[in-house]
Amino acid sequence: VAEKETLGFQAEVKQLLQLMIHSLYSNKEIFLRELISNASDAADKLRFEAINNDALYGNDHELKIIVSFDKDARTITISDNGIGMSRDDVISHLGTIAKSGTKEFFGKLSGDQQADAALIGQFGVGFYSGFIIADKIVVNTRRAGQFASEGVRWESAGEGDYSVESVEKVSRGTDVILHLRAGEEELLSSWKLKSIIRKYSDHISLPIMMQKDEWDAEKNQSVLKDEFDTVNQASALWARNRSEVTPEQYDEFYKHVSHDFQAPLAYTHNRVEGRSEYTQLLYVPAHAPFDLWDRNKRGGIKLYVKRVFIMDDAEQLMPAYLRFIKGVIDSNDLPLNVSREILQESRDVKVIREGSTKRVLGMLEELANADEQEKKDKYATFWTEFGQVLKEGVGEDAINKDRIAKLLRFASTTNENADQNTALADYLGRMKEGQEKIYYVAGDSYTAAKNSPHLEIFRKKGVEVLLMTDRVDEWMLSFLNDFEGKELVSVAKGGLDLGALEDEAEKKEHEETETSYKDLVEKMKAALDEKAKDVRVTFRLTDSPACLVADENELSGNLLRMLKAAGQ
Ligand code: ADP
Ligand code: MG
Repeated sequence: VAEKETLGFQAEVKQLLQLMIHSLYSNKEIFLRELISNASDAADKLRFEAINNDALYGNDHELKIIVSFDKDARTITISDNGIGMSRDDVISHLGTIAKSGTKEFFGKLSGDQQADAALIGQFGVGFYSGFIIADKIVVNTRRAGQFASEGVRWESAGEGDYSVESVEKVSRGTDVILHLRAGEEELLSSWKLKSIIRKYSDHISLPIMMQKDEWDAEKNQSVLKDEFDTVNQASALWARNRSEVTPEQYDEFYKHVSHDFQAPLAYTHNRVEGRSEYTQLLYVPAHAPFDLWDRNKRGGIKLYVKRVFIMDDAEQLMPAYLRFIKGVIDSNDLPLNVSREILQESRDVKVIREGSTKRVLGMLEELANADEQEKKDKYATFWTEFGQVLKEGVGEDAINKDRIAKLLRFASTTNENADQNTALADYLGRMKEGQEKIYYVAGDSYTAAKNSPHLEIFRKKGVEVLLMTDRVDEWMLSFLNDFEGKELVSVAKGGLDLGALEDEAEKKEHEETETSYKDLVEKMKAALDEKAKDVRVTFRLTDSPACLVADENELSGNLLRMLKAAGQ
């Protein structure tokens, strides 16, 4: 099909384009980072496909990215000799947004430019960011393995539509040609482009090349030479020594691997030697992705084998409860032709997963236990974004259960607000004399839990109660019976034994009261018949006349409601 066709962008792309051009203008340099990031991904994909098909390289084995500009034409071009795109690829990748949760995301935009700019930043803008500085983008591309006659030209002004047509393209890969908007002339300079590349793309492991320029004294201006310079360090960032990488470079690398726009909260970078040899560079993002709860979502780890990219989202490398972690694992032991199926069974992978889990927990502990306010704040952010997912680990990861339990944070009756910031260790430190158990109340919401009549006696006695209001809590609690030898008990269960918290006089008074109400209790039991399993005199309530409790060994009311809601 040689003819030119004009196609409309997906509605969300149109919205993204409009918003982005205005709201990200103050950050416009990021277009180059995004396009170089795509070129680098394209090289990774080619290298991977070529493992089983060396012919894809043709006679061009040296993967690289070339950035050039043309002052007269007012264009900047980013060229790569990576995997390239077929006509179908072009239409699906440069006309739509493939991310899951895209529709929901755009539904959240408010129309307020500043608020939306922050959201767009979180979403990640990718290829379309070119339109911040360009009023026309032309993409010439040819998929590796296809003929020169099978090239494709995509063109758009970044408004409602784009065109695609077949063209002759001699070399494999992709050229992205940006026609600059009026006023963007300052980008047409070697110095400017080099400084942007060094700032945002130094971590890219391929060489990013630019034509050399020299000062011509006679002409009194700089002139481009036929030689090329490599602008970046061009070595895999994770393979460098920690001391050779700056925090800014770690952050930029994160943005590249995660397709995220915001800097991460923390990272850990290690070379592991021994039974299994691998390098890990793992990040905790600063915000939850839109598809955190998507059951089909895979992890965020890119797997490399001896620097060769193997796959994105290698979910076997992280347990499910750490699926939000992003980064790179580079193994020295796995075969290059490793598949997802092989990963599932591999002992090397198991070793890597266990080692990486420990590293991630260590990184979280460092934030959680830090004295510096900055790190404490980071942990609070982490907890708000990912706490509910981490809780899954209590049930999923028996080996690390105790470490995870220490990382948990709860809302508590000692706080006046719903903040989840009480650690179990904090609770232990505040236990009353004679208190032997950790008490909690479960509820559908903070308000419901906080106003539970079960809390009355605890309030009276000044005993702290943890408020469990996340959906996952009761499931988690079925795996967490105790913490440092102290049993966790629900205040809503059975004959609550307050142990030594009750003094002798109180006990005696209770017994006398129970005897005097015996007849009434019998009558009520008879009246309620099958509807209640038991009727008891209680001393837990100070204001409410009565409350329902679950039997000692039964599921609590809240969990029963949840299971019913889930259709069980
Ligand atoms: P992301 O990189 O997060 O997937 P982008 O908007 O940056 O999103 O790019 C969209 C898609 O377009 C990429 O996933 C890729 O499939 C394709 N693409 C973009 N640039 C290139 C390129 N230089 N070579 C090959 N494919 C590309
Ligand atoms: Mg991209």
